[in-house]
Amino acid sequence: MKIASFDGNRIGLIVGDDIVEIVPAASGAAAWPPTGMVRFISDFEERREEIERLLASGPRLPLASVRLETPVPWPNKVVAFPANYHEHIAEMKDGLISTFKNGGQGFFLKASSSLSGPSDPIELPAVDGREIHHECEMAIIIGKGGRDIPVERALDHVFGYACLVDMVIRGKEERVMRKSFDSFCPVGPWITTADEIADPANIALELRINGEVRQSANTANLIVDIPNMIAMASSVMTLYPGDIIATGTPAGVGPVEEGDVLDIQIEKVGAMRLPVVRGARGKNPVWDKPAA
Ligand code: MN
Repeated sequence: MKIASFDGNRIGLIVGDDIVEIVPAASGAAAWPPTGMVRFISDFEERREEIERLLASGPRLPLASVRLETPVPWPNKVVAFPANYHEHIAEMKDGLISTFKNGGQGFFLKASSSLSGPSDPIELPAVDGREIHHECEMAIIIGKGGRDIPVERALDHVFGYACLVDMVIRGKEERVMRKSFDSFCPVGPWITTADEIADPANIALELRINGEVRQSANTANLIVDIPNMIAMASSVMTLYPGDIIATGTPAGVGPVEEGDVLDIQIEKVGAMRLPVVRGARGKNPVWDKPAA
């Protein structure tokens, strides 16, 4: 199944060129915070028959007539793994691969409020003299939560996958600050459920800027693989349904500029086309010094 958020946190399933509404928008006190998808994921297995019934009988709308939103707008957390493909490590620094083999770098968090969706532009902050880079990543969406999840059972905890762009200001400041501007974590265009991905360790991903391929990789070349990422994250933190894990970038990161068009495409998962705009927000003296 391909499960989307649309038009004000309604939840629907993509069927061909249509979307079938499964959960209408919440109203009143239930409308905020927008945690409907977290609840939907949490209840998915027990509601599966009902969901399949609604698939046949729910209101059906042309996909082109709705506005898709980031599928999980209010997760408990967004976990992110650093550079996680052999070629990118070579690009960043020779000899780091052995450090990474056992996940030596660990992981970090991005603010959940940095999430944006397939219909939202990436807004560059009003920060001068810094490069702002794209990182092309596959997102894991956690289904069943847990702590100390063993590697061999980790894939049972995956609800699905999505495209994710990890945007970052290059520099030495704390990584969370450089990576957590609003719209610095586009995720979408929907969640493709794990049952549609026979082998998550063999998925091609690609990112283009203005049509030119900048990043092209396959999850077969991940250093810390998906089960080990889930085991590592859950060794520290309880994972909850709807939590998002950014699986780390392959080689080819590079700057984006105002006016660029960024395309991200992940085999069997989906694709997003995102315009890059420059906003007026984001100024702070912390960015005034040079990056290096
Ligand atoms: Mn990244």
